[in-house]
Amino acid sequence: MGSAPPDRKIKIAIAGGGIAGLALAAGLAKKSHLEVHVYEGVPEYKDVGAGLALHMNAIKAMALIGPEVKQVYFDKALSQGDEETEMVTEVILGEGPNQGELVAELGRAKGRKTVARSDLLDGLLQLVPKDCITFGKKLDAITETPDAPNAVHLTFKDGSTAQADCLIGADGIHSETRKHLLGPSHSATAPVNHDGWQIYRTMVPTSEALKHINEKWTRCVPILLGPRGHVNCIPVNKGTRLSAGVAVRGAKFSAGGAPPLDPALYANYSEDARKIVALVARDTSASWTAADHDHAPFYHRGRVAMIGDAAHASMPFAGNGAAQALEDSAVLDALFAQLADASQIAAAFEAYDTVRRPRSQKVVDLARQFGRVYAYAEDGMHEDPARMKQFFAGAAAFTNNADLQRQNDDAVGLFRAAVGGGSEGVGDAVEVV
Ligand code: FAD
Repeated sequence: MGSAPPDRKIKIAIAGGGIAGLALAAGLAKKSHLEVHVYEGVPEYKDVGAGLALHMNAIKAMALIGPEVKQVYFDKALSQGDEETEMVTEVILGEGPNQGELVAELGRAKGRKTVARSDLLDGLLQLVPKDCITFGKKLDAITETPDAPNAVHLTFKDGSTAQADCLIGADGIHSETRKHLLGPSHSATAPVNHDGWQIYRTMVPTSEALKHINEKWTRCVPILLGPRGHVNCIPVNKGTRLSAGVAVRGAKFSAGGAPPLDPALYANYSEDARKIVALVARDTSASWTAADHDHAPFYHRGRVAMIGDAAHASMPFAGNGAAQALEDSAVLDALFAQLADASQIAAAFEAYDTVRRPRSQKVVDLARQFGRVYAYAEDGMHEDPARMKQFFAGAAAFTNNADLQRQNDDAVGLFRAAVGGGSEGVGDAVEVV
């Protein structure tokens, strides 16, 4: 910590014990000048079937919070190779004259792994002391008494209340914190499905998948592109189950929801892609409708801030939502290490906003663009694989290769300058391409 310890611990409430909230709590709980408590809305975690293939920036962000955070991920995940082997998500044209051509390698990282979201949450939960988290506490309302001790008052759906010096809303895409900060009727408050995306998804035992699709697709993370939807697979639960999906842009929704997935529409796709579509069509009960956030004009006001999907939910197509959530947590972890007392919280949030908002919102834009490129809907790009490769290489470098130590240092430098502690370590904020 940069200054003398405060008279009493600084009380931090985190709403939402998802990836962002738990990773941040794991870091803050280690700091003796802080008292952190996570209020998680659900009584217990359920497996929502999401498989994550975390990119290198996610792994670097976890390591910045602490080696034990990165370690739980490595313990819970399925290795796609040995620790020294570099792995990537392969993006391949699945339809058209250039069918079979590899156009992108995303998320390159050594020892890269895939993990079920629920397994990662289990691992992160082990790092948060039991008395620092309460389940079944769904945040319902926030009131603030500026500059008073315990300035933030929380009311939960069950009628109970809590107080803290600040609130960090990590409460996901339908965030109450976002509603409080932007206002319920702000155009950026609610998530929107601008391009009409429907994600047809199945979760099957790998032994069952092997009866229907090529064995190699149960060991890697492919994305096979085409105009009627892109097809992907992620091995999860240490390789015992496969999450396979078809993401369709411009789905014709009716009052009954999305139409059923029709494998006959994929006759022009490669044989491998067709087999995966047929596998998904057998049971689409794990399907969902994607949405993202239009840009929020700020991520904090006074003693309340939002992080992760609450601040910048993105389409899943760039594979970087959790990574961006973890980058937020890494930056706030570094900033809160510096706090001398609660009066400095707003300056810490301001530094977080300055450093993280441009980069995370750029990723929201990129993920939307990835979706259009995957669906052959971006200005003829699919007819020119070289152009496609150039686009993906630039985007992958932006998400994957960012200098996150520098991002943390930049935030801390801005904070120190604001609270009068000098500006050493201030660099340029992480570049936005
Ligand atoms: P969440 O993980 O959604 O957690 C929010 C938490 O807040 C939940 O536990 C919820 O119960 C709780 N909550 C909600 N409301 C309240 C309330 N009012 N009060 C208290 N608690 C509340 N990202 C990647 O980086 N790589 C990938 O490969 C990838 N693949 C994905 C695949 C799929 C199918 C999906 C759906 C997403 C994928 N993502 C990926 C994105 C990633 O899962 C999210 O970006 C990430 O989970 C965001 O973390 P979060 O903690 O902000 O939100």
